Amino acid sequence: MALYPKSPVYNRLLDHIERMPVIDCHEHFNGPGGRPAYKEPIAALTQMYVWNDLCSAGFGIPLRDYQKLADVEVPTDEKWPLYERLWHATEHTAYARVTKLVLKNVYGESELTRAALDRVAEKLSGMDEARYFKIIEEAGIRAMMVDVLGWIHGDMESFLEGKKTYPSNFYPLAPLPEFHLTAINWEYIQRIGGLAGMHITSLDEFLEAVFSAFQKLIEKGAIGLKDQSAYIREISYDLVPKSDAERLMNRVLSDPKASLGWPESKPLNDYLFHEYMRYARQLKIPVQVHTGLLAGQYERVERSNAAKLASVLELHREVRFDLFHGNWPYLGDLLFLGKNYPNVSLNLCWVHIIDPAYAIELMERAVLTIPHTKIHAFGGDYCDVPEFAAAHLTIARQNIAAALTNLIEGGWLEEEQAVCIAKDWLFNNPNRFFNLGFEEL
Ligand SMILES: [Zn+2]
Repeated sequence: MALYPKSPVYNRLLDHIERMPVIDCHEHFNGPGGRPAYKEPIAALTQMYVWNDLCSAGFGIPLRDYQKLADVEVPTDEKWPLYERLWHATEHTAYARVTKLVLKNVYGESELTRAALDRVAEKLSGMDEARYFKIIEEAGIRAMMVDVLGWIHGDMESFLEGKKTYPSNFYPLAPLPEFHLTAINWEYIQRIGGLAGMHITSLDEFLEAVFSAFQKLIEKGAIGLKDQSAYIREISYDLVPKSDAERLMNRVLSDPKASLGWPESKPLNDYLFHEYMRYARQLKIPVQVHTGLLAGQYERVERSNAAKLASVLELHREVRFDLFHGNWPYLGDLLFLGKNYPNVSLNLCWVHIIDPAYAIELMERAVLTIPHTKIHAFGGDYCDVPEFAAAHLTIARQNIAAALTNLIEGGWLEEEQAVCIAKDWLFNNPNRFFNLGFEEL
């Protein structure tokens, strides 16, 4: 079967879907201030995920050579021989397709050649603040859920002090991993205390500070919790007696030079995570969780399977969970959770460009198995490069149209029903789930 059906139904459906406004359910967008430097064409065209594929192609190439490729100060001529080799090895992946779409839609080039890069270089100065917003608007992105408050990518303190604000259609989420790091020392504990103006002397005070920080974050506009701890630990959380957690916390509190690492800190980490789910219940906010593929290299496939979260999802029944990335490659496990757990929604951010065929299959089978009100069909998952999020959305729209066309042509759906499902997936469902208050489509 063709990935994208060559049929009038597909064309009609895609035409509808291309005109639908979208609620983008996951980005790392700070506003124009977060943009990368648009100084050198290879760096400008090779943002984020495609680096993972280039690295994957480059057995034996030292990391410093990759860093050179990404460095906007290194001249294109110096980068080109290695880049050309890696690009040709990678250019047919979906991540590379995003680069090709950016090349075409933003810079008007149909092929990535050395000469095309010189023409791209001449247009980089046009990637200014106005363009940033124009690209988002033209893509039909009406609102965006943004994960930007972490200490690594953002600044929680200045957000809480009201110094850092975001464009009005960006909705930030509280970065949950920051509140249960796997490496814990005295400075970290007191930094959390500082968010609530407290000096921490016990586990109870630490928890009080976290709850107060959550309340303040919500007052300032945060609309949920976002957890991507899968990058630092397996996502199975045991129910731990409080005394075990307290013992570990006290070890650090009783000696400012002490620190806890992984996996030693696991009982404390597990305890905190469950406690935060109770806070989410009390504060009535949803929890977004990274599941499935981890960006980068040399990760473990089984560590982030959503099935490992089952005991959390089962226990915290009054909390709404938004599970990310199609749980790639564990499609069946995710369908089980979406079908079986009333508190689980599927957030298809990133998965459209991880594996379009998987995304199409997932959506097709989701229609057959899961109430269609539980799907959030798009999140770009890029950092302040709107042209990449927009290209991702182009692919997502094609994937959605393909999945629904297959169901129409297979005799399962009428065309009008498919249009309604697409509207719900792209707009109405997230609008309701995140309480955004837009008029329904
Ligand atoms: Zn992300």
